[in-house]
Amino acid sequence: MDISEIQVDGYEKVVRCRDEETGLHALIAVHDTTLGPALGGMRMLPYVNEDEALFDVLRLSKGMTYKSAVADLNLGGGKSVIIGNPKTDKTPELFHAMGRFVDSLGGLYITAEDMNIGIADLEAVRENTRWVVGLSRESGSSGNPSPYTAQGCLHGLRAVMEELFGTDELSGRSVLIQGVGAVGGALALLLKERGVEVTICDIDHAKVKRLSEQYGYKVVPEEGHHTTEVDVYAPCARGAGINDDTIPGLRCKAVAGSANNQLLEPRHAQDLKDRGILYAPDYVLNAGGIINVYMELQDGGYDEEAALKRIATIYDNLKKVFEIARTEDINTRDAAARLAERRIRAAKK
Ligand code: NAD
Repeated sequence: MDISEIQVDGYEKVVRCRDEETGLHALIAVHDTTLGPALGGMRMLPYVNEDEALFDVLRLSKGMTYKSAVADLNLGGGKSVIIGNPKTDKTPELFHAMGRFVDSLGGLYITAEDMNIGIADLEAVRENTRWVVGLSRESGSSGNPSPYTAQGCLHGLRAVMEELFGTDELSGRSVLIQGVGAVGGALALLLKERGVEVTICDIDHAKVKRLSEQYGYKVVPEEGHHTTEVDVYAPCARGAGINDDTIPGLRCKAVAGSANNQLLEPRHAQDLKDRGILYAPDYVLNAGGIINVYMELQDGGYDEEAALKRIATIYDNLKKVFEIARTEDINTRDAAARLAERRIRAAKK
């Protein structure tokens, strides 16, 4: 087991983890722990080289610092990446080794699920460290985060409606959901139950057919879906969908969905503002999952009722972002960053 530090400006700790016996090659980045231990998921991808993995882990861990700060959690930002093919390289021993590395940081970094990492992998990690959250409900953990992310989006959408229409009433509004997976599917149902006119699109046509028959959603094809006229367009599939090609075609009053990194580039937040389209920064709106796992770390352990209450504060967080954007005449992406940085600065003092 070999752990070595990589010096990166602006990051508290970045380590390379290598274990010859299991073939593990991973990086763990702790961006900032001013507000608390660095929490962030573990992902596994066949990165072409370590530089590519490093770029990813640095970007993602910094993002977690901002996400937790805006969500008003006492958590810092961290992330880990395993370099390998998730289809062929996973073994229990690999995750046991990863657990030892996470443990060696003594709680500075707390890990969780991310891309290509499942509960079984995390269970193996937990054999060697207690710094893991988001395991099964049966094991006393908080379970699958997706329904909680959807709940958070629901509260965020109330803030969006209030900003658009002066009232947070959802009934009678229209929302287009791109991607009716774990989060988008749950969100569609929550909105439908509240009288929202829900339109869906997904590349999984069988799922779209089943859901529309079951719940009466309107359906639009994936091709050109973003040009549908609705109050809110909610991207809940992949990132980068808001870009130079799609923005001119948008016919919504707001963009507010769960997908991570919806903007292809930061400047697209300004493009939305210039067109009078309200953008709910993705990491503010989709914080329900992290809030839910955070509640595991509270005294007395996870309590669903307390978690749901805390998730409802996404409404307040988003309202704060909109207010900063309005009063300082900046786009909402920059406003969210300011909110996060102010909280971290205040804590530093
Ligand atoms: P998921 O894989 O369960 O669902 C994604 C859905 O999008 C699938 O139904 C898929 O068929 C569909 N899809 C993929 N590409 C599409 C396309 N081009 N057009 C239309 N549909 C497409 O994923 P999820 O867990 O629901 O997550 C959705 C998004 O929210 C992701 O960007 C994820 O990173 C983000 N997110 C999820 C959580 C969570 O708790 N699951 C938390 C924060 C952020």
